[in-house]
Amino acid sequence: MDRQNLITSKQLGISCIVPVYNEEANIKSFIHALSQYIETITDQFEIIIINDGSKDNSCDIIMRLLDKRHIKFINFSRNFGKEMAITAGLEHASMQTAIIIDADFQHPLQTIEQFVAEWANGYDMVYGVRTNRKNETLIKKSFAKLFYKTMNKITDADIPANAGDFRLLDRKVIDALIQNHERARFMKGLYAWVGFKSKAIMFEVCDRQAGASSWRFGKLFNLAVSGVVSFSDVPLRIWSLVGIFISLISFLSIGYIIFDTFFFGADVPGYATLLTIVTFFGGIQLFSIGVLGEYIAKIFHEVKQRSKYIVENKYNF
Ligand code: UDP
Ligand code: MG
Repeated sequence: MDRQNLITSKQLGISCIVPVYNEEANIKSFIHALSQYIETITDQFEIIIINDGSKDNSCDIIMRLLDKRHIKFINFSRNFGKEMAITAGLEHASMQTAIIIDADFQHPLQTIEQFVAEWANGYDMVYGVRTNRKNETLIKKSFAKLFYKTMNKITDADIPANAGDFRLLDRKVIDALIQNHERARFMKGLYAWVGFKSKAIMFEVCDRQAGASSWRFGKLFNLAVSGVVSFSDVPLRIWSLVGIFISLISFLSIGYIIFDTFFFGADVPGYATLLTIVTFFGGIQLFSIGVLGEYIAKIFHEVKQRSKYIVENKYNF
């Protein structure tokens, strides 16, 4: 059956992937709302809830939803982060398409219909792009902007700005994503890296219905560094260029100093210059060692070949 027919006959298989971390106030009503909405689109669907080590009552609440067979549940042994929760969801998804959606009502359900319509038009990945970041601080917005700008300059994966995890993926894309076994899972980068015919859909982020966002500045900063380090080796190689440039300058200045001493004699002053130069290079060297460290840490994580996440129990699979 072609894509359009699958949709008109309500036979399109959809796996909804819902990562959950401390969503006790949202999860029950969200899953109800999602089920009801998806039922209007298709008869073939599953909802995969991943409890990412919630410290509140989310797990118990989810357990009480499991009498419906289409609701499947993966319970992590601890918090592994949203990226891992999504990865687990994708690895367990059994349908033709997957939709990744947050459990806090920030992603409007009505957008799903547009996702599906674009999938029918032949797109393999349809992703939501936020039109408003109004509730975010200026600092967060400017950092986000800077991040996307540098990322797209120094990597070959073009990461669309303001696109998040809210998206629809075709089976082709799901399979491509789960074949990448890297542990540093920067999903936004991976989505862009795998390629495929993609389409952006604008949507307005709603307010969180209850609870608080679990992203702190430090966590986002780490995610950004991890994103850069996993997708680009420019920070690693830039130091050769900086080194060449600085060597050139020092050659020139050596020439100048020799010339100067030869013709005008040595005078003692120069203490301040010396000190600034020494500290300047100390700083540069420490920084470049730090950059090396980031990559070595990444290599260390990858070679250990640890499991990406640990599942404590699974239900309805
Ligand atoms: N989430 C998760 N693991 C985490 C943090 C968040 O699974 O360590 C889930 C969370 O329950 C929600 C989604 O990821 O469904 C988005 O999280 P949040 O609303 O805190 O982030 P924001 O919307 O502020 O980006
Ligand atoms: Mg949210």
